[in-house]
Amino acid sequence: MPGYMLPCRYCDQLVPPDAEVCPQCGRWNPVDELRCPRCRSPIMEGWKACSRCGQSLTVTCPFCNQVTFFGDHCSHCDARLTVRCLQKKCGFEQPPLGTICVKCGKPISGGKR
Ligand SMILES: [Zn+2]
Ligand SMILES: [Zn+2]
Ligand SMILES: [Zn+2]
Ligand SMILES: [Zn+2]
Repeated sequence: MPGYMLPCRYCDQLVPPDAEVCPQCGRWNPVDELRCPRCRSPIMEGWKACSRCGQSLTVTCPFCNQVTFFGDHCSHCDARLTVRCLQKKCGFEQPPLGTICVKCGKPISGGKR
């Protein structure tokens, strides 16, 4: 028995309880516990910033221009909020919290320099 696993809340496949990203569907925060994307300490939905590292946890939705808690979807208009890393080898999908890919550390916002 390979340890206990928890169902991904998006695709219901079993994932490790400490998974930051579901290996099956690639969505952020597959298990219920929300974690800071920077320091991985537990956070609560609705927080404005991480209590430990101060990482901002709100984003402005590019679709409706309202501030929403970071996550896959805007809580106001339900638009999909994740951005994809432009690095070909990476392509990691993540909440639009910063300009740097949380996985490979390269800038996400391509195009302009
Ligand atoms: Zn999943
Ligand atoms: Zn943090
Ligand atoms: Zn929105
Ligand atoms: Zn990347």
